[in-house]
Amino acid sequence: MAQTDYSIMEILQMDACTGCSLCTDVCPAVLAAEDGRLSGVYRLGELRRIMRSRTGLLRRFFGRQVPTKEQLKQFSDTVFRCTLCGRCQQVCPSGILLKDLWLSLRQDLVHCHAYPQKVDMIAENLAESHNVFDEDNEERAEWVEDMPNVPEHGYIKDQADVVYFTGCVSAYFPMAQAIPMALVEILDAARVDFTLLGENEWCCGFPLLGAGLRDQAEDLIKHNLEAVRAKGAQKVIFSCPSCYQMWHEYYPKEFKLYHVTQFVNELIVSGQLLFNDLSLTVTYHDPCDLGRGSGEYEAPRQVIRSIPGVKLVELAHNRENCLCCGGGGNLEMIDAGLSSDIAEAKIDEALKTGAQAVVTACQQCVRNMTTYARRNKVGIDVMDITQLVQKALAGRGCPDSG
Ligand code: SF4
Ligand code: SF4
Repeated sequence: MAQTDYSIMEILQMDACTGCSLCTDVCPAVLAAEDGRLSGVYRLGELRRIMRSRTGLLRRFFGRQVPTKEQLKQFSDTVFRCTLCGRCQQVCPSGILLKDLWLSLRQDLVHCHAYPQKVDMIAENLAESHNVFDEDNEERAEWVEDMPNVPEHGYIKDQADVVYFTGCVSAYFPMAQAIPMALVEILDAARVDFTLLGENEWCCGFPLLGAGLRDQAEDLIKHNLEAVRAKGAQKVIFSCPSCYQMWHEYYPKEFKLYHVTQFVNELIVSGQLLFNDLSLTVTYHDPCDLGRGSGEYEAPRQVIRSIPGVKLVELAHNRENCLCCGGGGNLEMIDAGLSSDIAEAKIDEALKTGAQAVVTACQQCVRNMTTYARRNKVGIDVMDITQLVQKALAGRGCPDSG
């Protein structure tokens, strides 16, 4: 382990914890697992103990023991059972940037070889195939073939004003492929000059952060920047909030970046999209990386409210207090049972609103909530905001279009 995995600010903040336990009260992992060792306050206490054991003088004079490999492994098992939802950070009265700290801690644990084996799989898949699923990267835009009326260029042009960066989950996971299909239809309807990167899109690198492999993202970043530059585009849009956040925080500021909710909202405001009446009551789930992570709460609500006939009812916990769906932080790979238990709490809350559908703006949230709802035969639809907009597009022949 190394102190160098932490910024000076993070090291200073470790001692700012008052032990108030507010982070424990709001942690979805603690609540679902009923295990206090998954809480921020426990994690921070252990981390401080480990940091002090590394300091030679404290070790000599106060007999601080360096943790054994087994102790570190046990600690690591709790550290990686976290969705990185950022709710602990949101409520911490001491202002500790807990989510950043959890990322540095994961990196620290990887450097000292105390981490879940799945981390190796993520690293290998990205190094060899450039996507998290170890699929053939040449097939990244294969979902286009399942669309009707595809133009000759197959949405991969040599040059375009806008690049749509699809992200690994939407590109490869059948349950999520409806999202890029919907967005392409929306962009076409609004006559946006856009292109996909196809096989030249590599994973944005976000899964490496959660895996504690932040320092291995550089090749992916360089490659993706070059691929966008080659298209001559000024704007990049993302349907994945994690890709969007990754580009915002870790890529050089070279392009104008939009989450799809922001881009579609601009299209609506400028009159480029026309809608039919949908007659639907929905609730909205704020994806962690779009809401707490990127501070975008309004654009998705404006999009939903602009569709005639759609009524938005808020969840009891919404905006910065929104409960995680359980799909973040690579938790699904590390502990699928816990991920599903967190989804259960989310779906229960959605059912209480009386909405017919939960709308969100993230392929991973769609996957996690849909999987739980289908497995447990829960009577509520789950859809991405792009799918809601697609349903409402004028000219799609919906029953209300006249
Ligand atoms: S990021 Fe979310 S899951 Fe992780 S410790 Fe904080 S509140 Fe719990
Ligand atoms: S909310 Fe902040 S100050 Fe309170 S216990 Fe958690 S980390 Fe410490």
